[in-house]
Amino acid sequence: MPYDDFGLSPYQGLVDTLTDLELPATYQCLPLVRRPRPGQATLLSPDGRRWIAQSRPLARTAKERLYSILAGALIQGTLNHLKVCPQCKKYFVTKTLKRNFCSTKCKDGWHNRERLNLMQRNREQKLNRARELKQEGKSVQVIMAKTELGKRTLKKAGITEEFSR
Ligand SMILES: [Zn+2]
Repeated sequence: MPYDDFGLSPYQGLVDTLTDLELPATYQCLPLVRRPRPGQATLLSPDGRRWIAQSRPLARTAKERLYSILAGALIQGTLNHLKVCPQCKKYFVTKTLKRNFCSTKCKDGWHNRERLNLMQRNREQKLNRARELKQEGKSVQVIMAKTELGKRTLKKAGITEEFSR
């Protein structure tokens, strides 16, 4: 397939922005600690150690930092450092891939909500079980013992109303 038939890449906007930003490149020569990436050359120094060289754009502002990471991701094929926070839905850039939230506040908020959802689901399951037990003609004491729900909770849910009168 001729190259022209591919048309513009979906990354053209990003490429154009990066070109316009004219980020100065910095160069690094680092010890080879893991397998080189595809296309990444290794250098053998006279003392027998192996090195890799890499070029990175130098970022001075938050915008440049974002775009320098996008540039790296574009070149290396890893857009994983740009993530969407599951709590606030905002984009954020992370140095460590383990990080999934933009902030501690969002992380705590998300986990608190998950915990609350889990508690509500548990409660719903217990209430459903209580309704089943009531259908089976079980006593309030038995329902309470088997579901670990309180008398007030059962009454509030309209499950044990008739027992309580
Ligand atoms: Zn967030």
